[in-house]
Amino acid sequence: MTNPFETAKSQLMQAAKIAKLDEDKIEQLLATDRCVEVSIPVKMDNGKQKIFTGFRSQHNNARGPYKGGIRYHQDVNLDEVRALSFWMSFKNAVVNVPFGGGKGGIIVNPKELSAGELERLSRGFVQKIYPLIGPEVDVPAPDVNTNGQIMEWMVDEYKNLTGHPKALATFTGKPLGKGGSEGRAEATGFGGVYVFEEAVKNSLGGVVKGNTMALQGFGNVSSFFAQAAQKLGFKVVALSDSKGGIVNLEGLDLDAVAEHKKQTGSLKDFAGAKNITNSELLELPVDVLVPGALENVLTADNADKVKAKLIVEMANGPTTPEADAIFAKKNIPVIPDILANSGGVCVSYYEWYQNMNNEVWSKEDVLEKLSKQIKQAFVDVYELQKKYNTTFRTGAYILAAERIIAKM
Ligand code: NAD
Repeated sequence: MTNPFETAKSQLMQAAKIAKLDEDKIEQLLATDRCVEVSIPVKMDNGKQKIFTGFRSQHNNARGPYKGGIRYHQDVNLDEVRALSFWMSFKNAVVNVPFGGGKGGIIVNPKELSAGELERLSRGFVQKIYPLIGPEVDVPAPDVNTNGQIMEWMVDEYKNLTGHPKALATFTGKPLGKGGSEGRAEATGFGGVYVFEEAVKNSLGGVVKGNTMALQGFGNVSSFFAQAAQKLGFKVVALSDSKGGIVNLEGLDLDAVAEHKKQTGSLKDFAGAKNITNSELLELPVDVLVPGALENVLTADNADKVKAKLIVEMANGPTTPEADAIFAKKNIPVIPDILANSGGVCVSYYEWYQNMNNEVWSKEDVLEKLSKQIKQAFVDVYELQKKYNTTFRTGAYILAAERIIAKM
């Protein structure tokens, strides 16, 4: 299995080589500023105590406070958290928000905990890390299996412990009305389409309006992406979930698909579409492919069979380096995850900014700002891609590394 940290590090080193970046600075960027492991005692509902293990990794803060989510998962480990914090530094720099990279996690299957246990665990984690975080130090957010409710508990605990006047800005991804920002739910999917719009404007892959598109996934990111892409004039012909996919080359009615999923719990057997597997979806005769669910799905085994003319990575790390090399050889542009899915971190920054300045922005304002900022990121990456005659991924790493190094 491809190790995402090794992949990300090799991507940075490739960018460093091509753009002749300062070797000492790159060496520093390959390391992590600080990683902590904490133990969290939690009183369980049966009256017994259980000790959980949590982590926070702070990769680099040259551009601003460390920033990144906290995930709750039984497979969380320090290496993974460290890798994800590294990634966050680059994602934040590509979209030009004034944050560094951070990430956290707790080893737990949250589905096995009651709401009360989950709250005590979340508050317990903050009790252990609060001296290391803060609105101008490190700003966590939700990630896998964490949500607005958990952020609300964490903010409250942080506020009780520190009395910080800007405690609200210590965590983003809070619910609306509790300091959260309008537009956060749509941010990643819509942000991806703003980037895609620029790619189309620049004729990448020869893609034009009216072309077909297949998306892997139909969760938060893919469903908002599909919605906005359809509105832009593209034909969404295939979607999937963990149980498989559906295809209709004439196009899918997204509202009807969402309703079918709500009624039956899956996309399977949607009337007017054919059932396919997730791997068949990736090889469909479509113009645009959007992997928007899982990592490592485009590999040396299937990259040659991909027929799309343009790939937009909405999931994190969907393409292995071997597949990347195949797409580069075949001249299929891949808009990389750190650019395409950076809409979420961008709106997290807007949430932090609103909290810091006691402002509340409308959804229209948020989405307009996001559109402008993420389209500019595309333009900046595209310039470097052309300058160095390299891939968009390498262009994005060069841009991010140059921006971080300039502040180091
Ligand atoms: P989600 O949980 O809302 O949706 C995930 C989707 O993946 C669902 O449709 C699910 O059915 C599908 N899925 C699960 N297992 C699958 C399998 N084995 N095969 C095919 N599909 C499967 O999650 P999301 O927030 O939409 O995140 C999707 C991806 O985007 C992840 O890689 C995530 O890290 C990345 N991402 C999300 C955000 C965000 O703001 N939500 C930001 C950046 C990156």
